[in-house]
Amino acid sequence: MTEQHDVVVVGAGLSGLRMARLLAESGLSVLLADRKTDLGRGVHTTGIFVRRTLASFRLPPECLGPAVRHVTLYSPARRPLKLESPRDEFRIGRMAPLYEYELRRARQAGAEWAPGCRFEGLEFLRTSTLVKLTDPEGAHRLLRTRFVVGADGTFSTAARHLELDRNRDWIVGVEEVFRGIDVQGPPRLHVMLDPQLAPGYIAWAAHDGHELHVGTGGHPSRFDPDRALRGVRELAGELLAGEGLIASRHALTRASSPERRAGAIPVGGILERLASTRGLLVGDAAGAPSPLTAGGLDPCLRLTATAAEVIVDHLTPGGAPTLAEYRGGNFRPRFVSRLAMRKLYDSLDDPRLIEAMCLALRVLPLRLAARHLFFGDGSFPDPSAELPLGIGVTTSRSRGAIMRT
Ligand SMILES: Cc1cc2nc3c(=O)[nH]c(=O)nc-3n(C[C@H](O)[C@H](O)[C@H](O)COP(=O)(O)OP(=O)(O)OC[C@H]3O[C@@H](n4cnc5c(N)ncnc54)[C@H](O)[C@@H]3O)c2cc1C
Repeated sequence: MTEQHDVVVVGAGLSGLRMARLLAESGLSVLLADRKTDLGRGVHTTGIFVRRTLASFRLPPECLGPAVRHVTLYSPARRPLKLESPRDEFRIGRMAPLYEYELRRARQAGAEWAPGCRFEGLEFLRTSTLVKLTDPEGAHRLLRTRFVVGADGTFSTAARHLELDRNRDWIVGVEEVFRGIDVQGPPRLHVMLDPQLAPGYIAWAAHDGHELHVGTGGHPSRFDPDRALRGVRELAGELLAGEGLIASRHALTRASSPERRAGAIPVGGILERLASTRGLLVGDAAGAPSPLTAGGLDPCLRLTATAAEVIVDHLTPGGAPTLAEYRGGNFRPRFVSRLAMRKLYDSLDDPRLIEAMCLALRVLPLRLAARHLFFGDGSFPDPSAELPLGIGVTTSRSRGAIMRT
């Protein structure tokens, strides 16, 4: 017999987990499926949460590292520019326990969990949709649903089957997580600008006293991520040892089996066609990460909170007709300057130009701009300000509650 659910959520990253929980808490019957059996494996994010996210969403403190207030920006010639904030700006999430926590909350709210189930496709019936999954034993599983959520990441299969827009521009990020290396000084994010090691993006070393994340990102056509990562590991060793933060410049190259993380991040800005009467997209599947910083965790949570309200409205008799408003055009104006800055930075492949830009950042007005980039409140636009959603029964009742849970 075919199983029935109000909503099937495909993908249990941060977006899908949040979505499953919010919908289940709203009283809908939800099934959450992921091809992974263990969410703690194959994590593909550094997990840096910005202040604005931590202010808007309650994340369990035990799943977050100590606060980071210091940033060092290195030019291609390795000249450091040190920035310090009086506020707690970032925290590195402990992503495996955080995913487990979110899954527990979703299941407590009543969501059904289908681990190891790969989404294969959809069949549109007159008033419902059939979702095809393959379970861990390779058996087919067929679910009848009223609505499908594509939370299955940058290369979303759900987007294709829902006939919605798909990401066309992404960068590749790759990093290693070191534990047990003694790093002196306060938690700090080291950002390295280098068009060879991180073409069109940045390389980073982030430490919070417990974990040290060393990674790089760039356009897939312009670099070999593995080779670049080896270079960044060496560079980070040199820079951290040079500052007296680690005992030896070889500490990272000699460390045994750090955890490796990698993935693609969409940077083309939010997609236009995000929803139809059959389903909608959230998180990376929706192209939500910032085109400039490639930060995607804040967009995941904000867009998912809005999308959950839209779905509840859509599936509730008499609910507000907000589904048509869930489209990229309502968010894109806030992406324009970030897309322009990304294009500008992308075009700078000459280290001398980036060096000149870094020198300019030492002059006061531009130094303030750099501070704003790292410590400002800019992140994903606040959907409640961008979308005409305040008309709905559900939206006006629940927005505040949904944002803060
Ligand atoms: C190396 C790296 C570092 C990053 N660091 C940061 C950072 O520090 N801060 C920040 O804000 N952002 C960061 N990002 C971006 C951020 O991690 C993402 O934007 C965010 O995690 C996306 O979450 P999501 O839930 O939308 O998608 P995902 O986390 O990609 O989740 C998608 C889920 O769908 C599942 N799935 C896919 N296809 C199928 C299928 N066919 N059937 C069933 N399941 C499927 C996958 O297994 C996965 O669990 C980083 C990204 C990378 C790659």
